[in-house]
Amino acid sequence: MARRRQIYEGKAKVLFEGPEPGTLIQYFKDDATAFNNQKHAIITGKGVLNNRISEYLMMRLGEINIPTHFVRRLNMREQLIREVEIIPLEVVVRNVAAGSLAKRLGIEEGTALPRSIVEYYYKSDQLGDPMVAEEHITAFGWATIQELDEIMSLSLRVNDFLTGLFMGVGLKLIDFKLEFGRLWEEEDMRLILADEISPDNCRLWDARTNEKLDKDRFRRDLGNVQEGYQEIARRLGILPEAGPRDMKGPETVQ
Ligand code: UDP
Repeated sequence: MARRRQIYEGKAKVLFEGPEPGTLIQYFKDDATAFNNQKHAIITGKGVLNNRISEYLMMRLGEINIPTHFVRRLNMREQLIREVEIIPLEVVVRNVAAGSLAKRLGIEEGTALPRSIVEYYYKSDQLGDPMVAEEHITAFGWATIQELDEIMSLSLRVNDFLTGLFMGVGLKLIDFKLEFGRLWEEEDMRLILADEISPDNCRLWDARTNEKLDKDRFRRDLGNVQEGYQEIARRLGILPEAGPRDMKGPETVQ
């Protein structure tokens, strides 16, 4: 394989230079981390499943005209994406109390929220991604008021669409995290959905039994993490045909 220039290595993905200017290749690793990197493991096959699940969800969102960075999947572990200027925010949308919200506000996990809630966290590993208000975001110039309005309305549209899509296959979308980026076209700038949408950054529970099928299996040592992700892919009708063939995957090309 030709050697490619690595642009960035994150916890679960690597970004390489793409074939044309303005493109990147996003490589999905099997690494899982939690609690700001304090917990780490390799979950064999996770990268393959997340690549496929994220491709599917980004494509479905594209069909309803949500702009995304996804161009096409290249192979089991890689997808071609558009290069964007990432807005340093993690946008969390919640439908049901879980995780940090349940803990912070003392609400029992599983309680339906009166309405969907959107929260912002400042992307900083060093600071442990602190929660921030619109005031901080605009005062420190991480995004403008107009950009935040757009982020909010896109996030709620994504939530409505994905909630229905998952409900159709017997899954409850409890909460999820999105990231957005700026795409420059000549003088114009557009906000587009970036990163990935996968069980690494969504909570998905079985609609009937409330069984957790997402990354909480890893965070909370519930076991069978890969099987949970595989079940989500199976319900979406997108289990990679080759099955676990590439579950080990090629070594990352540096
Ligand atoms: N999330 C994420 N990355 C983060 C923090 C949260 O993808 O760095 C996702 C997480 O998977 C969940 C949602 O955002 O679907 C809300 O997470 P929460 O704030 O409850 O934090 P956690 O309990 O995961 O620490």
